[in-house]
Amino acid sequence: MEKYTGKSVLKGIAIGRIYWYRKQDYQVVKTEVPDKEAEKRRFAEAVETAQAQLVSLYEETLARVGEDHAMIFDIHKMMLEDDDYLDAVNEVLEEGFNAEYAVETAQDQFAEMFASMDDEYMKARAADIKDVSRRVIRILAGVPEDGILTDEPVIVVADDLTPSETVKMDKNKILAFVTVRGSSNSHTAILARSMNLPALVNTGMTAGEELNGKIGVVDGFQGEFLVEPEQELLDEMIHRKNQWVADLEALEQLKGKDNITGDGRRIDIFANIGKVEDADGALAADAGGIGLFRSEFLYLGRENFPTEEEQFLSYKAVLEKMGDKKVVIRTLDIGADKKVDYFALEEEENPALGYRAIRICLDRPEIFITQLRALFRASAYGRAAIMFPMVVSVAEVRRIKEIVNQVKEELSTEGHPMKDVELGIMIETPAAALISDELAKEVDFFSIGTNDLTQYTLAVDRQNQKLESTCDTHHPAILKLIEMTVKNAHKEGIWAGICGELAADTDLTETFLAMGVDELSVSASSVLKVRKAVRDL
Ligand code: PEP
Ligand code: MG
Repeated sequence: MEKYTGKSVLKGIAIGRIYWYRKQDYQVVKTEVPDKEAEKRRFAEAVETAQAQLVSLYEETLARVGEDHAMIFDIHKMMLEDDDYLDAVNEVLEEGFNAEYAVETAQDQFAEMFASMDDEYMKARAADIKDVSRRVIRILAGVPEDGILTDEPVIVVADDLTPSETVKMDKNKILAFVTVRGSSNSHTAILARSMNLPALVNTGMTAGEELNGKIGVVDGFQGEFLVEPEQELLDEMIHRKNQWVADLEALEQLKGKDNITGDGRRIDIFANIGKVEDADGALAADAGGIGLFRSEFLYLGRENFPTEEEQFLSYKAVLEKMGDKKVVIRTLDIGADKKVDYFALEEEENPALGYRAIRICLDRPEIFITQLRALFRASAYGRAAIMFPMVVSVAEVRRIKEIVNQVKEELSTEGHPMKDVELGIMIETPAAALISDELAKEVDFFSIGTNDLTQYTLAVDRQNQKLESTCDTHHPAILKLIEMTVKNAHKEGIWAGICGELAADTDLTETFLAMGVDELSVSASSVLKVRKAVRDL
């Protein structure tokens, strides 16, 4: 047996086969092939497979969201039938090189040609030619679309996972995550938590691909990953897993109960989500609403900007699912660890202190306005609230409100129905907490993002695994900033919640209640655990 230790992201136990995750950005290597004709046939077969995939994607999307959205897959299919494109690939194959390289060469050539066109529509086709070429390359290289080729659910083990990779994975195929690197406050860890999967990060293992297919046990309580444990230990872990499942079932009895302490203090417990489907988990966990919908996840793991219509449909779907429960949607928080190629963000020395979140939105208002239009249009379908990330000044909030008012005016002129929407900001910079008295006069609520507030207050990079064990998440500086923020909110008669990971830390539930925090927004898997902590007080 081999045993590795790591930082646990979710307390739970998973037992199953290990799947070593190969990176999506498959690096194409140029090689000469012995048989040109065989390579041409391999390419032709890959194109056929790609076309079959595109036909089913077209049909699935048509059934789900209609012709407008499905059309893109038809365009991709047509690109694979285009004689010029096929000739460009065949030219490289004729020179005796491998098909992956030939496709990549044609892709670069065509993408460059599209990108240099004046017409905006044609320019945008550069992303499509890359997308469809990558599909063919993946097929040629045997890399499945979400990186996971399996019939049974598996323990996914990887060197590291980006949020874009995690967001694409099919939850039904995964029992747990284990990564060699990574920190427990990274967005990948947050996603694992939102999927309610045991996960360990920063195991520092040297083992890799050879783990594939072996039996593994992820013990999120002890922070241990066991590979091929002896039968006796395996039996013990199966027993502990059953115990864990039984404990979870016991928590189920708290569904439908109030979040109230013994002496009658109430608090809202909401859920954090990243995808439309996560709203089902929030409802199943009996969350009082959604306290943080990380809308940027709609932008990850794709090749181009989601359109207004696509976003509208996603927000509308969440609002409709949640009915009369509040849904706090955060506007785009891209940047730092959440990278998206099509934003064409420059490399930065300190991305966490750089061009991200609301700074991008105010600098590139066309992106912001598209999102706001989608949000306000969707507001007609439920109880939406909107909040803005990474605010540091009153001037930013005033600028945001100007843009919001302009968008609302436009939409009402166009005749779109809208409902009243609460506007709030995240308090996740020390600057925002320190001027929360002034900010409270501008908005309807605060939501404290303790993940970033901790990294900026303690000067501890949340992605840096080396600092994790020494980072004091209960540092008095953070608790003081939270307390100050809540007090200043209440002075102006607005509510204040916490949506960072600290909200689920039950060692602090009593402290948060004493401070007067109005809402805690946690992963769906923690809702009942926090309810229990409140009711036990
Ligand atoms: C936070 O910073 O606490 C937060 C909730 O936002 P994110 O984790 O997405 O940065
Ligand atoms: Mg944040």
